[in-house]
Amino acid sequence: MRERKWIDCPVCGSKNSMRKQRGLTEQFRPAGYPPVPDLTGLDGQFCTKCGDGFWSKASERKIAHHLAKHKAEYDSKRVVAADLSSVQETAERLRVSPQGVHKMMKTGRLRSVFVAGKRLPIRADVLKKAKQRGRATV
Ligand SMILES: [Zn+2]
Repeated sequence: MRERKWIDCPVCGSKNSMRKQRGLTEQFRPAGYPPVPDLTGLDGQFCTKCGDGFWSKASERKIAHHLAKHKAEYDSKRVVAADLSSVQETAERLRVSPQGVHKMMKTGRLRSVFVAGKRLPIRADVLKKAKQRGRATV
C-alpha cells in the first residue's frame, strides 16, 4: 500500500506544515474499557501548526491490533462460556475461512476474548455480523 505524502495540512489549511514523525508514543482510551498501556514506536505525518495528522498505514494496523487485544483481554474477565462462539462455527456463519475469522479478531473487526490461551469470538458480535452480511447480500 502506498502512503500519501502530505504537504499542506488538510485540517487547518496551513501551507507546507505537514512533517513526518517517528517513534511517537500514544495513549488510547476506548470507551467502556480501562486505559490502554501506552503504545510506542508509532509514526505518521502531522501538522506543525494544529497538531492534527495521520498515522502511517503500518501504525494504523498496529493500533488496531493493540486495541483489539486490549479489549479481548479485558472482556475475557466478564464474559462466560455461553457468550462465546467457536472459530469453526463463526467461519460457517460468516462464510469465511477459519483464517479469516482469526484475522477479523486480530484487527478488531470481530470482538473476541482470550480463554485458556485461545482467542474466541463473542457470539453476540458473530450473530450481528451474520445478520449484517445477510442483509448486504439481499
Ligand atoms: Zn494543521
